[in-house]
Amino acid sequence: MAIMNNEFKDSYQLKGLRQKLVNELRQKGITDERILNAFRDIPRHFFIDKAFAEWAYKDVAFPIEADQTISQPYTVAIQTSLLDIHKGDRVLEIGTGSGFQACVLSYMKAKVYTIERQAKLFEHTSRLLKELGYGNIRTLYGDGYEGAPRFAPFDKILVTAGATEIPQKLLDQLKPGGIMVIPVGTDDIQKMLKIIKKEDGTLVKEVHGNFRFVPFVHGLK
Ligand code: SAH
Repeated sequence: MAIMNNEFKDSYQLKGLRQKLVNELRQKGITDERILNAFRDIPRHFFIDKAFAEWAYKDVAFPIEADQTISQPYTVAIQTSLLDIHKGDRVLEIGTGSGFQACVLSYMKAKVYTIERQAKLFEHTSRLLKELGYGNIRTLYGDGYEGAPRFAPFDKILVTAGATEIPQKLLDQLKPGGIMVIPVGTDDIQKMLKIIKKEDGTLVKEVHGNFRFVPFVHGLK
């Protein structure tokens, strides 16, 4: 990763914490080496407030700007593994937030489009991704319920906010043979769904455990 801004400092200590986090993810059942390498190589502390660098390497969600959170590392790892990423996949992420998840997908050589509804967060993260050398991630300001029709269809769609239902418009923007990963439930708890759109258009749903995300909210802010 080309780091062009001196504000972004890494250290042996933080690298060590990163390696510990990788070991923890491995123990929790993450086996895809590309995902583990992403966690080893992407300094997650660049995505949160500088004063809390060490918190970046605990397996917890953490507050970022605009009352949002950077997803827990384990959650990012699970969502990424359910997407079954192949090089060159066109992936739409709903909920850019800190940008960390988008970087993990980009690290795995996916072509990433990511949508954020909060203007402040959209601007902050778009700038951060460029500064970190991830200018190839396409950041979009918009309502994720609409998807990104201009860039559809997608091989994969990832929703990183808790939904109460599966938005039809997103299903429509998924290619036959594509996969959508979306947490669906109430505001308090959601089940992680992996939805496979078969070549004939029929949907197969798998359930992968309980999670808690910030809500998938309609409209712009
Ligand atoms: N993927 C993020 C996790 C962010 S938390 C990361 O790696 O840090 C979820 C994000 O979804 C928040 O930033 C929230 O503002 C955003 N969000 C919620 N509803 C949305 C919508 N309708 N469209 C786009 N983004 C939305």
